[in-house]
Amino acid sequence: MSTVTLSKETLNPFEIAQKQFETAADYLKLDAGMRSMLKTPKRQLIVSIPVRMDNGEIRVFEGYRVQHSLTRGPAKGGIRYHPDVTLDEVKALASWMTWKCATVNIPYGGGKGGVRVDPRTLSLGELERLTRRYATEISVIIGPDRDIPAPDVYTTPQTMAWIMDTISMLHGHTELGCVTGKPLSLGGSKGRHEATARGCQVTTRLACELKGINLSSATVAVQGFGNAGSIAAALLHEDGAKIIAASDSKGGIYSRKGIDPVEALKFKEQTGSLFNFPDAEPITNRELLQLNCDILVPAALENTITLENADRIKAKIVAEAANGPTTPAADAILAEKGILVIPDILCNAGGVTVSYFEWVQDLYGFFWSEIEVNKYLERTMTNAFKEVHATAEKHKVNMRTGAYILAVGRVAEATQVRGIFP
Ligand code: GLU
Repeated sequence: MSTVTLSKETLNPFEIAQKQFETAADYLKLDAGMRSMLKTPKRQLIVSIPVRMDNGEIRVFEGYRVQHSLTRGPAKGGIRYHPDVTLDEVKALASWMTWKCATVNIPYGGGKGGVRVDPRTLSLGELERLTRRYATEISVIIGPDRDIPAPDVYTTPQTMAWIMDTISMLHGHTELGCVTGKPLSLGGSKGRHEATARGCQVTTRLACELKGINLSSATVAVQGFGNAGSIAAALLHEDGAKIIAASDSKGGIYSRKGIDPVEALKFKEQTGSLFNFPDAEPITNRELLQLNCDILVPAALENTITLENADRIKAKIVAEAANGPTTPAADAILAEKGILVIPDILCNAGGVTVSYFEWVQDLYGFFWSEIEVNKYLERTMTNAFKEVHATAEKHKVNMRTGAYILAVGRVAEATQVRGIFP
């Protein structure tokens, strides 16, 4: 009897991003030259960041800023502080930003930054010095009409305020439009803090309509309880859904009766984790992903749903609030099981959409009400969802490939009409 060994899938995010791109490029019948242009990052900057720690020692951290595409406008994308950040991860995240901005049709290319650091181990002063030095190092390529950073994993409006101040000091004038996701007191936009989650809510509502699921009685499990996950849980709860489980990097909580996400967030802010939240049982991240529920929201990091667990996912909808949570091999399994995946480049695009609104408001010096921001956000997300769904139907593919065909097609067309310099 022969034994079949499953070939192990790659978990390298940049290889995954390239594979997703190639699938769309095949449908679009792009030639080899266009493919190489679209999949190669335009600029990759690696910087070393010396920081004087509180005890007087100097530590040097490695940081990155990758601009994947500048074809449809300035590069746009967050900055991540995480001990596991790598250049390949930042390259993948930068290319996902290109496709994300094109999916929701906002005039940006894609970029991403990262610093290899665990910010939870630094004091506020150390974090500020690290951020200001990193901002100075990448100042040679960022700016309101070149590349506009924003928050990502473990960076906050305060981080953006320090970057904005550093760039403004270097330029000799206040440069509001050089980063988004800033505090409201400093050119931030109303609604930006909730925007990623609100986009996730809008697309989840539309996905529920497609699947014939009543959101007001649906069950939801949320993996990752940061900005995207915790607010998505609160918004879906407002829609009547029951949050049966939630988790963070330290573990999760589960209750069939339902968890109040607002109370859970307060508890996490007070105690540092969800662990021991009253009236809920502990659950591992692994168990959470495999729960019997209607909607699963992966809202943490890449490679969460893989070849190893895809077959055990029981949700009917996977709403990707995180970037890159599902590997291509897992995607194929979910599709076979009839699970509707709202792909990351659509599902979590609400964040960059309101970043775009923030940048527009900063450049005009004219600010909108929260009602206006949310109205334009909902319209942008609804249009994008419909276009992605129509593209997927036309080519008889899943929503991810539909989104990639739409996005890669838009960037390819812009590349074609611009032509090659010189
Ligand atoms: N970091 C977020 C993302 O991955 C937001 C990017 C932005 O607002 O520029 O989409």
